Amino acid sequence: MHELSIAEGLLDIIKEEMAKNNVTKLLSIKIVHGQMASVVPEALDMAFKALTVDTPMEGVRLEMEEIPTRVRCCQCKLEFSPVEDDIYLMTCPQCGAELGHEILSGKELYIESIEAE
Ligand SMILES: [Zn+2]
Repeated sequence: MHELSIAEGLLDIIKEEMAKNNVTKLLSIKIVHGQMASVVPEALDMAFKALTVDTPMEGVRLEMEEIPTRVRCCQCKLEFSPVEDDIYLMTCPQCGAELGHEILSGKELYIESIEAE
């Protein structure tokens, strides 16, 4: 379960931001994650709960937005989104090439916004 280490990393950033802005109570955060970052929202939510219990950040509301994978075919340059269960072997719908495509999006993992007071 890599969500725990992701949550730890994100919490470090959040703590820094909160200190900078002189706020102590964390209300909600919005996290954007690419399909290829393979984050399980429920697992990340659980990790956050576990890490923030008995801290000023307890009870934070987690919003998650998933960005679909987009790649550009290495052969015919077609841009496409691989189907869900074909995420590792991305077969191009036009020419059938499977490997070496350029990843355009889907690897993102970042905090889009923090709401605190
Ligand atoms: Zn192609």
